[in-house]
Amino acid sequence: MFGVKKKGLEFELFVVMKKICALVERMKYCENCSYATDAARCPLCGGKLLREVEDDDYCFLIEKPKLEGEMLADVLRGNGIGCVAVPSGSGVLSAMALPLENRKLFVRWKDWKKTADMLYAEEAADTEMWRQFLQENAEKFSLSPKTEKRILRKAKLGKGGDALRFCRRMIAQAKCIDGGKEMRFSREQLIFCHASGAVVTVNAKTLEIVSVSFEKG
Ligand SMILES: [Zn+2]
Repeated sequence: MFGVKKKGLEFELFVVMKKICALVERMKYCENCSYATDAARCPLCGGKLLREVEDDDYCFLIEKPKLEGEMLADVLRGNGIGCVAVPSGSGVLSAMALPLENRKLFVRWKDWKKTADMLYAEEAADTEMWRQFLQENAEKFSLSPKTEKRILRKAKLGKGGDALRFCRRMIAQAKCIDGGKEMRFSREQLIFCHASGAVVTVNAKTLEIVSVSFEKG
């Protein structure tokens, strides 16, 4: 329980930091990447040719899987927020074994802060929904012998270690839990729990821990 509270606080701090960054006047803009930043160089391309961001500049907001991205873009447009969705073949999501076809969403700088705030709030609510679902069903988790062996080895738990207990702890501490939206609780639904040091992937239907991928280093 303590772990959950601690991570929750970290997340809130993260949101506050984001807000402060967004409030900093004279944010810079990289025309190459359509990215607003308060750094001296663009964090995406490393470019130094930044100018002051203007209200009508389209700025990178988020990258999502195709369907989810299109749906989010429609929701934003429905709320009067101009949004451009650009197909993208790579990004963080490909590391999570999701289909490569993503959408990068861009909104105008004048809409960026309120839109980002809304997304962070939604993401936090989703994370807690999935965490609750997983914790209520934690007794039903299962592991293949192969996955169990791998966890014991990678997490250095030793022979008598409890791999399921390790997974439950990771889920309790996960900063972000992502189960997608368009196929909630369907057969192939996978839930990705991003904890520090590892991502635990759970099949929502069977509650099998499908994999645990450990960060390098
Ligand atoms: Zn750039």
